[in-house]
Amino acid sequence: MSLMTPIPYGRQCITEDDIDVVVKSLQSNFLTQGPTIEAFENVFADYIGCKYAVAVSNGTAALHLSALALGVNKNSKVITSPITFAASANCVLYCGGEVIFADIEEKSAVLDINKVRELLVNSPKGTFQGIIPIDFAGFPVNMESFRQLADEFDCWLLEDSCHSPGGFFMDSNGVQQNCGNGQYADLAIFSFHPVKHIACGEGGMITTNNKELYEKLLRLRTHGITKDSNKFVKKTQKDGAWYYEMQELGYNYRLPDLNAALGISQLQRAHEGIERRIEIARKYDAAFENTQIKTLHNPRGHAYHLYVIQVDNRLGLYNYLKDNEIYAQVHYIPVHTLPYYQGLGWKNGDFPIAEAYYEKCLSLPMYPSLTDKQQDFVINSIKNYYNGN
Ligand SMILES: *Cc1c(COP(=O)(O)O)cnc(C)c1O
Repeated sequence: MSLMTPIPYGRQCITEDDIDVVVKSLQSNFLTQGPTIEAFENVFADYIGCKYAVAVSNGTAALHLSALALGVNKNSKVITSPITFAASANCVLYCGGEVIFADIEEKSAVLDINKVRELLVNSPKGTFQGIIPIDFAGFPVNMESFRQLADEFDCWLLEDSCHSPGGFFMDSNGVQQNCGNGQYADLAIFSFHPVKHIACGEGGMITTNNKELYEKLLRLRTHGITKDSNKFVKKTQKDGAWYYEMQELGYNYRLPDLNAALGISQLQRAHEGIERRIEIARKYDAAFENTQIKTLHNPRGHAYHLYVIQVDNRLGLYNYLKDNEIYAQVHYIPVHTLPYYQGLGWKNGDFPIAEAYYEKCLSLPMYPSLTDKQQDFVINSIKNYYNGN
């Protein structure tokens, strides 16, 4: 193993400052349920530009609580993309609802709004309750357009922004809209898994501008319990300061203070991280221009969680890179082709654009601490592979 390898597709970046704040957190009065949670929520809401943020134990918990708060139940049908991590779809199933997939756009690999419209138009009104678009790879989905469509069909909108903290699109008034800022989507969710932009170990966040949903999420995160005396429904004079009420069925999806402390520290470098990701993307763009290696549409505002190329003989390239200790990855196996979803009736062939995308896609190393030398090695290895084959 040389100094340069192994090179994964993504990895966390931990500094001395990160280590210091975690050690301080260990020495504080709270390992969990302390003040660091709200502090993290506040700085994250500031960064994204939304009113409210709710920290939770991971991105999947964020999806589950969001689906609950939006009222998903056994009568719900929800539309999402087959090109995402399974959790984006699973959250609907957790609540007893049904997931309906719609195909992706070829140039960006995100949920195709025209396909979603087709589904909505061709079903009786009221068939669908919600839409879950994903800012896949960091591509900022135009939530304004999705909002118009959702409103037309009385649907809610849950933005899976796990790949796009720091990403943005320009709305029809020319105003910058950050991914997950709650301007158009009812709720948005983020993950702080180490391969994502901001690492907490495990962690997640739900963002919104809707106060009612915000308060519901706070309760659901902690067993459905409220300690707010204004909200009590059956407190009597015999009940002291210990009193609380469980008013609905919730979970323990709390984020420990330890992880929140790391999140706050990481967030201070988020902007720097995005800048470096963009630099890496531009270098890949230049290297693959006028070659047989195709890249996805890379607009301004892209957050570059992933840098995806599309190639012939993907397995050959993947194995060749692996032999050189470059661990590229495939994002994603289309959700509707996973055995569990096929058990629900989905078949290969249902979404031809997603399936064709999957045949050729490969995510190259993309993380702020990737060095220029390492990136050169990745690029040269890819070129060597195609020159030799
Ligand atoms: C990572 C990820 C999730 C799940 O987040 P976890 O924190 O791993 O639970 C959900 N959706 C997408 C698109 C993701 O990339």
